[in-house]
Amino acid sequence: MIRLFVDHPLAPEHPVPIFRDQAHYLNIVMRMEDGARLLIFNGRDGEFEATIEEIGRRDGTLRVIRQTRPLQMPPDLWLLFAPIKKQRTDFIVEKATELGVARILPVQTEFTNSERIRKDRLQAHAMEAAEQCGGTYVPEVEDLQKLDHLLDEWPEDRNLLFCDESLLGAADPLEGEPGKWAILIGPEGGFSDTERARLRDLPFARPVSLGPRILRADTAAVAAITLWQSRLGDWA
Ligand code: SAM
Repeated sequence: MIRLFVDHPLAPEHPVPIFRDQAHYLNIVMRMEDGARLLIFNGRDGEFEATIEEIGRRDGTLRVIRQTRPLQMPPDLWLLFAPIKKQRTDFIVEKATELGVARILPVQTEFTNSERIRKDRLQAHAMEAAEQCGGTYVPEVEDLQKLDHLLDEWPEDRNLLFCDESLLGAADPLEGEPGKWAILIGPEGGFSDTERARLRDLPFARPVSLGPRILRADTAAVAAITLWQSRLGDWA
């Protein structure tokens, strides 16, 4: 059954308006007619079965029938990553959503090439990934911010898994307890010596190696989330 993210409160019997892109998708692309059924979720109330009450080229109305699944939150895991080329940044956001993160924070480091990101586009990628993978929660994609500033205000009770490419297989295995964590992935040019020294000094930072080979940043993001999820997350 088609799954659609709708940014609207959801409860049985409630009408849900849909607009342009979604009406076009259901009506024209998927050729759905009045009475057809689909699954909808809003990232807050869980997943619901709904029916198409009326649909046109530009708008329509769904009617909520019943809740099919409660909201299933991912672990309290943030992904901090330095944006790289557009497609690969899209890939990182999509895979992080599928693998299960609560928040996505693009960060600017000394060697980050991108000066800006398209937050709305990345948020749409997260939404689409949640639609496809059966998730009922969509991680918030934050604005691009300097890593240094973020570290200045870092919450002391949140561990930071610092993926340090200079360790190359040398670091201890991931240790720690489930709870509030974040993963940090650097840019194509890696971390600067100054950044590495600062990060290594932070009491909440856990430097980790992702094996003896240098991974591309998008590969590293998937590997790090998989490592964390399998040891401390909701896969364990
Ligand atoms: N300086 C290298 C380069 O130019 O390819 C490394 C950068 S790597 C492409 C991007 C990021 O992925 C790193 O900053 C690090 O966060 C992560 N990474 C890649 N390989 C890693 C490894 N073997 N161990 C830990 N982190 C790794």
